[in-house]
Amino acid sequence: MSPSRFRMTIRGKLIVSHFFAILLVSGSIGSFFYLNAHDSLLRQLQDRLQSSAALISRTFDAEKLGTIKGPSDMENPVYLETLKELRMFRRMNKDIAYLYIMRKVGEKIEFVVDSDETDRQAKPGSLYEEVPVTMLSGFTGLSVDDRIYTDEWGSFLSGYAPLVNGMGEYLLGIDMRADEVKRKFHILRVSGIASLFGSIILAFLFSQYLSDRFTTPIRLLISRCKAIADGRIEERLAVETRDEMNDLVEAFNTMSGHLASAEKKKQEAFDALQKSRDELEIRVEQRTRDLKEINERMSMEMAEKIRAQKALEEAAMTDPLTGLLNRRSMMAHLQHQVARNHRSGEPFTLLIADLDHFKKINDTYGHAAGDHVLIETAKRISAHIRGQDIVARWGGEEFLILLPETDIDGGKIVAEKIRQRIGVMPYLWGGKVIPLTTSIGVAPFIKDKPLDDCIRRADYTLYKAKHLGRNRVEWEEGENPLS
Ligand code: GH3
Ligand code: MG
Ligand code: MG
Repeated sequence: MSPSRFRMTIRGKLIVSHFFAILLVSGSIGSFFYLNAHDSLLRQLQDRLQSSAALISRTFDAEKLGTIKGPSDMENPVYLETLKELRMFRRMNKDIAYLYIMRKVGEKIEFVVDSDETDRQAKPGSLYEEVPVTMLSGFTGLSVDDRIYTDEWGSFLSGYAPLVNGMGEYLLGIDMRADEVKRKFHILRVSGIASLFGSIILAFLFSQYLSDRFTTPIRLLISRCKAIADGRIEERLAVETRDEMNDLVEAFNTMSGHLASAEKKKQEAFDALQKSRDELEIRVEQRTRDLKEINERMSMEMAEKIRAQKALEEAAMTDPLTGLLNRRSMMAHLQHQVARNHRSGEPFTLLIADLDHFKKINDTYGHAAGDHVLIETAKRISAHIRGQDIVARWGGEEFLILLPETDIDGGKIVAEKIRQRIGVMPYLWGGKVIPLTTSIGVAPFIKDKPLDDCIRRADYTLYKAKHLGRNRVEWEEGENPLS
């Protein structure tokens, strides 16, 4: 497993560190007290043993004991006396298990007198095997075991003291019962282990309590951060730890408070922006509508103006009564035709038709009847000419007809057709028939002659038709006889 995969919570770390810290401290203190109690108990026993050995050893004189050599000396009065005294001392102190006097002979250690009252009593001269170091020291000075020895008869602590006049060869040995001390040591150990287990449990509980106290604000901060991420900014944390955590939570609350007010301002600004955008949209819509209306009105006015302009132009170019071109616009067409003739030699012929005795119609049927006759005549002429031919009202009851690409013969045919159309079909007005004829003069345009010449020739031929009795067509091919 890679180290990065191992994850331990702060709470876990705190529990472990607190646990071991508490355990270390309580274990050290426990060990100190345990060792201290152990030492002091042992020292007390050693002191008691040492002073007992020192006291009892003064009772015996080594010079008297030289006569006790072996088992045969057990009836020796010195032996018996010494044994009696030893046994007396042993009975006086119930803690003393064994009292004995030893002698060093060369490298060997042997019993002189043993106070044991059982059949295991050591006889004088019997050797003592496996001599402990403290016993050897006891021949020359006070000496006590540094620890309790336990065997099948129980636990003992031995102390030694040299005898008076012993010359380093005699000592008194005391084996003191240490069962009680051993029991106390046992109780001490058991209570030490119990307190160790108690410490472990307390350390565990206390470390958990401390860790929880420390990590609760952290957990709260984490859940608060998640709440902020979810948009719940307004809430506040309430933690009373009376330490730096408190300051951290306070700082966090201040920060989230600032965040909340910034968010509020942002929302207000957004709302204001939204509102002004909506208002702007409404204003733009209104303005667009207004502009559209203005535009439509202007377009209509413009169309109206164009229509009026066109009407004006038409009015300027046409005769209001008959709707035919007027004299001015006919002049423009005539000049255009002259130019074409100059360019390409294209011929054209002019007809001038004048209604006969028109004055009489006005006088007989009224002016309105005269107007009706003029309108009807314009229609009849327009209906009997080609699309390229142009007719205009030239004067009161005079009509000028321009026939492009037409020579005098063509002109005569058209003039005759018009004369017949007017003279044959009767005009009706108020249920009455108005008799009407027309006289027509025909004049072709002569190349390189002015337009005026052609018009005057047409006029002349018209005059000729009138003169010759009206209701007829006259023409003039050559030069204007009047010019
Ligand atoms: P002529 O055969 O010699 O041409 O005789 P006329 O009566 O036709 O000729 P005249 O020139 O003597 O008379 C023309 C008349 O046409 C005079 C005028 O009152 C009439 N007139 C001219 N313009 C109009 C018009 O617009 N409407 C009406 N009703 N009469 C008009
Ligand atoms: Mg006339
Ligand atoms: Mg006339």
